[in-house]
Amino acid sequence: MEILQEEIQAHLNKKIFKLISETADEMGVACYLIGGYVRDFFLYRPSKDIDVVAVGQGIELAKAVSEKLGKKSRISVFKNFGTAQIKYKEYEIEFVGARKESYRLDSRKPIVEDGTLEDDQRRRDFTINAMAFCLNGNRYGELLDPFNGIQDLEDLVIRTPLDPDITFSDDPLRMMRAIRFASQLGFDIYPDTFDAIGRNKERISILSMERVIDELNKIILSPKPSVGFILLEKAGLLDIIFPELTALKGAETKDGVGHKDNFYHTLTVLDNIARQTDNLWLRWSALLHDIAKPVTKRWDPRLGWTFHNHNYIGEKMVPKIFRRMKLPQNEKMKYVQKMVSLHMRPMQLVEEEVTDSAVRRLLFDAGDDIDDLMTLCEADITSKNPEKVRRFLNNFKVVRRKLEEIEEKDRVRNFQPPVDGNEIMEIFGLPQCREIGLLKSAIKEAILEGEIPNEREAAFQFMLKKAAEMGLRLSEE
Ligand code: ATP
Repeated sequence: MEILQEEIQAHLNKKIFKLISETADEMGVACYLIGGYVRDFFLYRPSKDIDVVAVGQGIELAKAVSEKLGKKSRISVFKNFGTAQIKYKEYEIEFVGARKESYRLDSRKPIVEDGTLEDDQRRRDFTINAMAFCLNGNRYGELLDPFNGIQDLEDLVIRTPLDPDITFSDDPLRMMRAIRFASQLGFDIYPDTFDAIGRNKERISILSMERVIDELNKIILSPKPSVGFILLEKAGLLDIIFPELTALKGAETKDGVGHKDNFYHTLTVLDNIARQTDNLWLRWSALLHDIAKPVTKRWDPRLGWTFHNHNYIGEKMVPKIFRRMKLPQNEKMKYVQKMVSLHMRPMQLVEEEVTDSAVRRLLFDAGDDIDDLMTLCEADITSKNPEKVRRFLNNFKVVRRKLEEIEEKDRVRNFQPPVDGNEIMEIFGLPQCREIGLLKSAIKEAILEGEIPNEREAAFQFMLKKAAEMGLRLSEE
């Protein structure tokens, strides 16, 4: 890669960098921009997270810089970690003293000592993350790249600076990070580095689930998440952290009838949806939409392979997976459950004749998530036959049009009964009881079936008629 000194100088010509430089020179401290910020400069990925390493006192330098910036900046000091963070404009600048690290077997927390810049670069995870720009005096903008990260950037390669077995065993999070960067940046992992992930995969167990999930979510949010998942699978990590997903692997054939490999199908759906949305939870829904296929798989001599109720069983599996993975147990999880449960409904509309009542029921069940559900369902069309895909997508357009039409007419997306339970109790002088429930659901059913419009007067008359059939009398009062 041709290193354009002019471009580096132009980039570093920002007030904030000049100020750090000036302050460090005054204090006689060597200091460098390092890590992700330098990598992202060469990748033309603008970044607001800036790491500065000082040979000596990182905290002291941060304090002096913050003082010069005045009220426009806020500093937080983390004495225990020997770091300080300055928030200034849109930037978050982390200051740390250069350090040397050594590890024990049972923890990813290293023993830390003061060190040189080279020591600090050696403790970095990948060659592309170990580059530094000098910020001092006449060396301003000089690139320090002891492991030839520039070459690896050019070759699109992730590689550890030192022996990968030691790097990964010391801190197994780096295995997840290697795969995450490969997926995020579209890089390959250098063969020797990748093999070491396989050899050290069991070390993942010393990490907290939160750290693992952080990286997994970044893989899910990457432009083509299948890249990361295939690497996780090949390295043997996926089996440890997400066995439900590897259980989807494999395609069985019986009497000449096969079924698709649901692992690769799921990854294609995830890639498809990644082109449509950055909504992490919709992407999770794609990842989990067929998660119950292995447990529901049966061979039926008449029908071939079946996966009856895999959507409902999948919906029930979601909380267990979310709990184990320390994912939120809140409305995000409920949303994923809903998506998994309903993921086949729009497709059924395509396959059968699209009746108004089926469309109304779908709108009722999906509510405001109907558009996301349609996006998921469309992503789920992964046939190898382009003619079939084209036909499905076309029919899908018909369903979308029909959804709009019916919603405009009947407004059942966020259904509120036109006659509510309290009113019914009052009219018949009844407490909360079975009859009231029956009347309420009869009204709802009549609207969804299209027997009556979604309007008060029609619903009221319908309710009176239904109540009479049930032998209910109007209240005397
Ligand atoms: P992103 O911001 O996308 O997470 P990043 O590389 O900037 O990418 P940070 O977590 O901010 O990630 O880390 C900053 C730098 O610190 C990295 O570029 C790398 O040099 C170093 N680093 C971070 N985590 C590790 C680790 N587990 N082992 C070794 N070095 C690390």
